[in-house]
Amino acid sequence: MKRVRISLSFIYLSLLCLLSAELFAATVEGVRLWRSPDSTRLVFDLDGPVDHKLFKLSGPERLVIDLKNSRFDAKTKDLKLADTPVKKLRYGGQKGGDLRIVLDLKHSVKPRSFALKRIDDKPDRLVVDLYNRQQQTEKSVEALLPAKSQRGKRDVVIAIDAGHGGEDPGAIGPGRLYEKTVVLKVAKNLANTINKEPGYKAVLVREGDYFIPLHKRPEKARAAHADLFVSIHADGFDNPKARGASVFTLSRRGASSKMASILASKENKSDLIGGVDRIQLGDKEEQLKKILVDLSMTSSMEASMDVGKRVLNEMGKVTHLHSKRVESAGFAVLKSADVPSILVETGFITNPSEAKNLNSLAHRTKLSKAIFKGINAYFQNRPPEGSFLAWKKQGRGTNYTIASGDTLSSIAQRYNVSVASIKKANQLNSSTIKVGQTLAIPTL
Ligand SMILES: [Zn+2]
Repeated sequence: MKRVRISLSFIYLSLLCLLSAELFAATVEGVRLWRSPDSTRLVFDLDGPVDHKLFKLSGPERLVIDLKNSRFDAKTKDLKLADTPVKKLRYGGQKGGDLRIVLDLKHSVKPRSFALKRIDDKPDRLVVDLYNRQQQTEKSVEALLPAKSQRGKRDVVIAIDAGHGGEDPGAIGPGRLYEKTVVLKVAKNLANTINKEPGYKAVLVREGDYFIPLHKRPEKARAAHADLFVSIHADGFDNPKARGASVFTLSRRGASSKMASILASKENKSDLIGGVDRIQLGDKEEQLKKILVDLSMTSSMEASMDVGKRVLNEMGKVTHLHSKRVESAGFAVLKSADVPSILVETGFITNPSEAKNLNSLAHRTKLSKAIFKGINAYFQNRPPEGSFLAWKKQGRGTNYTIASGDTLSSIAQRYNVSVASIKKANQLNSSTIKVGQTLAIPTL
């Protein structure tokens, strides 16, 4: 009899456990907040996937997030709300075991929410983005203005993209040194170096610790009328001995090496870690595929390889190189149709001595100067039409923009110079020229 009673109470207990597990399908275990110039991102860590609903209430402005069968077990007092649209975060249980999170707002926002699946050491997450309407319109108006110092002498614009950010730390080095932190410092240093040079203007794609989806980064460069897009990274590998910098361009036909292929898939995971709303992304993937088969991209890919080689060459003078040639692979962040783009791995953050270097201002300055030297060598040779650099170069010779039907020999004849001298002045390896391409015509 006694044995039966024990089993019964055991069954009863088991049932109770099952019921409470059913009741609380998920627990909110952490909350983080990231502030970017045009939005605020709240990330809720969950111990499993959960259904949620998001809606706005006004008078006063509030945002309500209902999570099915969930409970809240996270600290909120460390959230830095001062510079955000959120006044206060509250939560409470609802009838039926649902969890209600309420954000009291300082002003109206455009909210978006989406779930992020568990990946690597990141748990299931719920992302709530609060877009600041006002700032977005100001930004887009500003972006419409072309960068011009003087009429016909515009600056060459370099968009510098510090990889990762926010939820996505990138590679992690000794002493929890994050790639996202180091590369932002390199990017800012490079921007300063560029802005000191007449005829150049740097634009930072990421200015702080927040995540930008990969496809948005070249979009920002295009909106700023960039002539070049440079994505800055630091490598990571299981073996701490791996070392050296490398430069990459986009490849349409597979990767140039196994190493490049592995690196591209690692870098492309950034969206899954950093957080991208797949619905908002929509048919972007399809659009990118179309862009990639567009022939207009060929010239920007050649330009990318040209600038990449020059940057790698200069970097080789100040740091060890992981690969002596520019490698190519399918990097999502480089899929820009018309802006030449390169990805620079500044070294291995997982290598103790390179991590130390990357963490030092002196080394970062050396790296930035080398990267700029490579960029400058490229633009001195091929200054964009209407730029200050082109105007300066014109003083030393003549520029000629190739029209339909032109050949190198017809241009040489017209200016009474040799084909070889034009090739030399423009560092052309073949006689192939393209409509719209600007050639420097050497003086006799
Ligand atoms: Zn990276």
